Amino acid sequence: MYGKYKGNLLIATACDAENGLLPIDFAIVESENRSSWTFFLWNLFFSIGCINNVCVISDRHLGIIAGMKAIEEASNVTWHHHLCMRHMIDNFKKNVKSKELSDQVWRAATLKCPNQFADEMRKILSASPQARTWLDQVPPHTWALCYDDGRRHGTMTTNRAESMNSVFKGVRGLPVTAILQQTFIRVSDYFYTRCESGKSMSGEHVSSMQQCLERTTHDARAMLVRRLDRSEFNVQDKNAVMYTTFLYSDHVDCQCHVPKLFHYPCAHVIAT
Ligand SMILES: [Zn+2]
Repeated sequence: MYGKYKGNLLIATACDAENGLLPIDFAIVESENRSSWTFFLWNLFFSIGCINNVCVISDRHLGIIAGMKAIEEASNVTWHHHLCMRHMIDNFKKNVKSKELSDQVWRAATLKCPNQFADEMRKILSASPQARTWLDQVPPHTWALCYDDGRRHGTMTTNRAESMNSVFKGVRGLPVTAILQQTFIRVSDYFYTRCESGKSMSGEHVSSMQQCLERTTHDARAMLVRRLDRSEFNVQDKNAVMYTTFLYSDHVDCQCHVPKLFHYPCAHVIAT
């Protein structure tokens, strides 16, 4: 905020099924610290209900991590904190001062296969002792896609959430009561627009998922499938690369890791 009353406007944003923004919680606080983040996260907790395995993606602000810990200790839920890769890479660049290594860390973060991640990390760590020291403080499960068990749904940064700033353009300089009023009006308008956009979709899935399934179904037609047992299949893609897929009654899995990490079927699963 930059008007007469200084402070920070905190916003928690989720994604809807069409990858649109879903603002959930707002708070005006004096500053970002442990106490204000804990207050905010408790309000988020009550807004979304007592849900387990909530994934929070943010920068490495100690107040956020402490607030999440306080919630976990006082309730019986487990929340997971994952790092925004844009913030992490900015910090890495500031400390290690190498664009090449930063690009390598970014590449490692987005790899779906743990073996490929290990190979990339070996190259990074052997190239720079400074990178090794810095990365030792940041466990891979907090930033690498292949170790997040699908909690991020492939979302690696908070970039989209930060585009909420454009919704609040011109608001942050207003008095507090006007900020509250404008927040309500703008979020209501935003929800109405998203709702109308949703109503215009027909079919079983949202538009982006429909297009994704059409693409993967098209790719699946060029694949060869061999059944190994009741639930296990070998699938060869058009480049003759072999994947093993598993079709169980309650879930599917594939060696490409797409179903687990992104929560939709890959072409190998569709081919079976
Ligand atoms: Zn697959």
